[in-house]
Amino acid sequence: MEKFSAIVLAAGSGSRMGLNVKKQYLDLCGKPLMYYALDAFEKSRVDEVVLVVSPGDEDFVREEILEPYGFTKITAIVPGGKERYDSVYEGLKACTGDYVLIHDGARAFVTKEIISHAMDDVVKYNANVVAVPAKDTIKLADAQGFVSDTVDRRYAWNIQTPQCFAYDLVKKAYEDALKGDTTGITDDAMIVEKMTDQKVKFTMGSYDNIKVTTIEDLSLGEIILKKQKRC
Ligand code: C5P
Repeated sequence: MEKFSAIVLAAGSGSRMGLNVKKQYLDLCGKPLMYYALDAFEKSRVDEVVLVVSPGDEDFVREEILEPYGFTKITAIVPGGKERYDSVYEGLKACTGDYVLIHDGARAFVTKEIISHAMDDVVKYNANVVAVPAKDTIKLADAQGFVSDTVDRRYAWNIQTPQCFAYDLVKKAYEDALKGDTTGITDDAMIVEKMTDQKVKFTMGSYDNIKVTTIEDLSLGEIILKKQKRC
């Protein structure tokens, strides 16, 4: 039987919120934002969850968030790094699975169904990203702020998480990538695309699987939680 690990990333500063409290600890429907993604993984078929938090926040998270809600799958709480990819790499070192699902804790509304489809696909394809077809037309800009190209919308997707990989593949890709130029790396698939020949499959996500980034996202988040009967 294959073993599945999940990395839940919650080591960001949340600076785009413009608040003093880190966004992962903000209250949403009576629970901290980071609770919801952890709850989805707890209820999924994933075997272990590695939680990455801001350095120094480990005890706070354990005492105030993990123990009160009784999560049983969290096998490690590790301190994150400066950039998202540094945090992912710290998480990867603590995983023991054959496959790993890398998830932004700020994507609080992921469901166990999405996780399940992502797990099925990673066994089939070795690398996949949860995503939704782009609703808007996507254009590329040049340095002067003019349109340089228009992407064919039939082939444009908005990328979400989890992003899932065979463990050895992504670990090696990260090790190689972190030795070189890391500018412009915004997701995990980019690292696998750049460092390996592995093709990355799309797995259908949901338009509700948003990343809570700004204050406006909190009221939208409450509506999504109500729809999911979690609020
Ligand atoms: O900043 P951004 O919204 O892209 O962050 C995506 C996710 O990565 C968030 O869940 C955030 O907590 C996490 N992150 C992290 N370590 C960092 C930066 C971001 O764990 N250094």
